[in-house]
Amino acid sequence: MRVAVVRELGEPLVVEERTLPVPSHGQVLVRLEASGLCHTDIHAAHGDWPVKPHPPFVPGHEGVGLITAVGSGVAADRIGRRVAVPWLHTACGHCEHCVSGWETLCLAQQNTGYSVDGCFGEYVLADADYVVAVPDGIDPRDAAPLTCAGVTTYKAIKVSGARTSDLVAVFGIGGLGHLAVQYARIAGARVVAVDVQEDKLELARELGAEFTVNATAEDPAAAIQALGGADAAIALAVAPKAFRDAYGGLRRGGTLVFVALPADNHVEIPIFETVLNGITIVGSIVGTRTDLREVFELHAAGRTTVIREQRPLSEVNDAIADVEAGRVPARVVFTP
Ligand code: NAD
Ligand code: ZN
Ligand code: ZN
Repeated sequence: MRVAVVRELGEPLVVEERTLPVPSHGQVLVRLEASGLCHTDIHAAHGDWPVKPHPPFVPGHEGVGLITAVGSGVAADRIGRRVAVPWLHTACGHCEHCVSGWETLCLAQQNTGYSVDGCFGEYVLADADYVVAVPDGIDPRDAAPLTCAGVTTYKAIKVSGARTSDLVAVFGIGGLGHLAVQYARIAGARVVAVDVQEDKLELARELGAEFTVNATAEDPAAAIQALGGADAAIALAVAPKAFRDAYGGLRRGGTLVFVALPADNHVEIPIFETVLNGITIVGSIVGTRTDLREVFELHAAGRTTVIREQRPLSEVNDAIADVEAGRVPARVVFTP
């Protein structure tokens, strides 16, 4: 099988041939039909975060494909089923986080495309219990971005507590942001979208944002305060400045959800204003298998639109450069 490998952090990926792996106990082998390029894969390849992946590794955690083989302990009738292979490769299943609906916080978790080989290839090994069924009728190229960008922003909107008539500010209308706008609308909120590129703001308007702010042309905090302030702000832009702007746009009692993970790992937040204004700041990491099922249900019901550009895996390095330069509509999806 062909896979795209990070051989050294900070170096271009290399497409290489590997022997097809055999699923061991509890695993499935998935022949990938589509695989999204998340900005997290770029952070992984660069070694941007405090906890680094160990090369060589295959990135990719928005994999969708058909099960072609199963290991012992997995029902053979799962062969031929379409599944999504998400960031949460596996978790322990019995710690306090796993049993309380917060499996994404499990300390024993493994992560697809980070601590175990991921979906930038023709096949991937996955845990039979942690793949999520993709309902019939959903295009695999839509299902791929939903597998991380979708579930992550769906969860972030849940965590924000956004509800009818709230104003939600979405910072960064990329792979994650274009879906965040839609989930905020589904929750009944009004949306103000913030980005540094006019075409992204245009897309946000098409997807239901009522207001847009170009952060290169005006101060987003002031612009959002002029609208009455945001009840919730979702920080999806890969820049600490956007987190500060998002904080500044909050209304009293508002909630700021940290989602993006820029290499520059710091933001300065004032204590006094946070206390006096009763601000909540919360981190949100991907979503559970149940959240992903709900994301697929919404998409199957025609309530979300995935904006994507299809590319061959051989163009992985160009695709990464294009995402970093903001030259892709929302998501790049590789079709091995
Ligand atoms: P992306 O590159 O597709 O989108 C980023 C967007 O932010 C772009 O549209 C860009 O123009 C915009 N932007 C840049 N600077 C800005 C600024 N100052 N103000 C407003 N907008 C600005 O990235 P993505 O794939 O959507 O991922 C976004 C971030 O979320 C990454 O850091 C990624 O690692 C992280 N992420 C986190 C989770 C999680 O579970 N917490 C899950 C997936 C991704
Ligand atoms: Zn991701
Ligand atoms: Zn656990």
